[in-house]
Amino acid sequence: MDASERQSLIRSVRQRLESLARAGVDRIALPEIAPPPAREKPSIAAVKVIEMAPAVPIRPVAAPRPVAPPVSSRSLFEEPKIEEPILSPDDRVAALATLAADVSICVRCPQLAESRTQTVFGIGSPTARLMFVGEAPGADEDRLGEPFVGRSGQLLTDMITKGMGLSRAEVYIANVLKSRPPDNRPPMREEIAHCLPYLERQIEIIRPEFLCLLGKSAVTALLETVLPMNRLRGKWHRYRGIPTVVTWHPSYLLRQPSAKKEAWEDLQLLMQAMGLKAPDRQKPAS
Ligand code: SF4
Repeated sequence: MDASERQSLIRSVRQRLESLARAGVDRIALPEIAPPPAREKPSIAAVKVIEMAPAVPIRPVAAPRPVAPPVSSRSLFEEPKIEEPILSPDDRVAALATLAADVSICVRCPQLAESRTQTVFGIGSPTARLMFVGEAPGADEDRLGEPFVGRSGQLLTDMITKGMGLSRAEVYIANVLKSRPPDNRPPMREEIAHCLPYLERQIEIIRPEFLCLLGKSAVTALLETVLPMNRLRGKWHRYRGIPTVVTWHPSYLLRQPSAKKEAWEDLQLLMQAMGLKAPDRQKPAS
């Protein structure tokens, strides 16, 4: 094939491709061509056809559409619920006793294990509808082995009894930390991480209908949020499916009595959901 024949062949191939493109053909199947013998160089004509092919206005083959990932039936923002079976009241008592025994010998936080008098596990009904979660034992709690027994404990008791019309024995009260931090300093992140599994297990065993988180440490531990308290209180949250209210820690209320009004509003949220009425205030005898 001489040069003019090659040019003529190239021209007719180009015209054919352009005519196919005008007719709407956007792809053509090429017959499989056996590769030339290794020693044989490709012909000049073949090289030119390959070079010219992109100039032919053939619509590009559409790229395959991206396939959407399978949609989970559970929202990304939905808290995973507690999967463990609900225990009978007797089994709850036994499970809490076993857990308390584990806690009593815990040394995960060496400094706290060294300085504490004893661990402070929790107190109240193993079938409580409402569970309060505070921060950590103070000096009185460390001495007596019971949460919320000092001045702030008395205020919490008043909130439960005089405010909500419940008894302390009807609810369950626990702290994030089970050992007293020295000098009542705030719990450290690492200590919260060490102790949190015990609190999580308490909640799994008791399975309260409602949670009330008292102060920032309880919020940080269970709700994993960095929002300030005043953005969190006064509304509902969820911890593993359990409706949860956030309010001020009683020790803060002792320092800031003006915040008691907000704490009362938070308790009323709980009471409304629990179907509780505030007890009648006894009128002083005239
Ligand atoms: S605070 Fe909790 S994790 Fe740390 S030593 Fe006490 S019981 Fe153990």
